Amino acid sequence: MARIVQKYGGTSVGDVERIKKVAERVKASRDDGNELVVVVSARAGVTNELIARAKALTPTPADRELDQLLAVGEQETIALTAIALHGVGVDAVSYTGAQAGIFTDKVHTKAKIRTINPQSVEKDLKAGRVVIVAGFQGINDDGQVTTLGRGGSDLTAIALAAALKADKCEIYTDVDGVYTADPRVVKTARKIEEISYDEMLELASSGSKVMQSRSVEFAKKFGVVFEVRSSFNHNPGTIVKEEVAYMERVVVRGVAVDKDQAKVVVSNILDKPGSAARVFRALADASVLVDMIVQNIGRQGVANLTFTVPRTDTHKAQRALEPILAAIGGGSVTILDNIAKLSVVGVGMKTHSGVAATLFQSLADAGINIELISTSEIKISVVIDQARADDAARVAHTAFGLDNH
Ligand code: ADP
Ligand code: ASP
Ligand code: MG
Repeated sequence: MARIVQKYGGTSVGDVERIKKVAERVKASRDDGNELVVVVSARAGVTNELIARAKALTPTPADRELDQLLAVGEQETIALTAIALHGVGVDAVSYTGAQAGIFTDKVHTKAKIRTINPQSVEKDLKAGRVVIVAGFQGINDDGQVTTLGRGGSDLTAIALAAALKADKCEIYTDVDGVYTADPRVVKTARKIEEISYDEMLELASSGSKVMQSRSVEFAKKFGVVFEVRSSFNHNPGTIVKEEVAYMERVVVRGVAVDKDQAKVVVSNILDKPGSAARVFRALADASVLVDMIVQNIGRQGVANLTFTVPRTDTHKAQRALEPILAAIGGGSVTILDNIAKLSVVGVGMKTHSGVAATLFQSLADAGINIELISTSEIKISVVIDQARADDAARVAHTAFGLDNH
């Protein structure tokens, strides 16, 4: 008997028929004698629909109310999944995040899990029930409902696996596993059998939506090995785990594209100590996450600062910068959102050279211009024209020999 946490994403519980299929899969594992905790997302599209409704009422809905609203999506699917299990003769009980003892901090819409008190869940497991838990939500110390950031059901599953000391954590989705690139964009992408936490984290934070990046961070911190696999078939998926030596033999594990960034240019600011500090302090105080940063060489005492921010934060960035412009020389702020970030990721980069040259050459050959560059030990990212982003992913994928022929 094993204790297993399974997570089913939005497409996997997308309608009543799919929920029935999930119930059958859960029943099969239960019949094998396993203890099961099942985390479910909202039906595909529901979270987006709820956000759109709120924004139709006001462009900036209050974060607390958004959390109240968004939690509804998962509350529907937990109950339906439990009901489906009853329908096939399995004893099951549904829990909201709060009922499952998932305590978070107070940051609405992107709360962090602080602790999990799994007592009630444990009790039901001991009584032989399958426990269904709402993904993506928790409760803070003031008793307020919080949500864990988009894609946050992955985090619920991994955190529960850690708290319940599960033997296995399985993330069921609508693809067979983690691929070398988004298989919907790069048709020649291959399924990866095993990937390190660090590579998965870099891919996830660079735009591969198959796993929420914070969930991977959590898994790494608590050593939760997990498998990403399809809810539509029984193919083996991708195992995500600690790096092992042979992983370095592959230079580039995968390619990711992020189309949700915008480029901010602060032009004509005084080229003197303190200007950059003022800009990034103002952004930090407004909780704007800055990614790539480039400052050009100053001419005649003025310089330009260019950086990227999440597209959802461009208004915040503009509002934060306007009041400090006079103090840094009266420059101007321009926001461009027709950009995309392309990243290539692999632990093998630590021991191989020429990765940047190969990437830049492949983009040059395709006539794709590079606007910004950043590198880390296991990743190279470039900002390019959004209209060419998918082409860029394909040529980079080919250039690093990742194509499945
Ligand atoms: P779920 O609702 O199950 O959480 P998501 O839509 O969040 O599913 O994530 C699965 C999707 O991630 C896939 O349908 C696929 O298009 C996309 N994706 C992006 N990059 C990758 C990748 N490298 N490997 C697999 N899927 C990827
Ligand atoms: N329903 C939430 C979202 O769409 C959480 C999740 O699906 O993981 O972001
Ligand atoms: Mg997801």
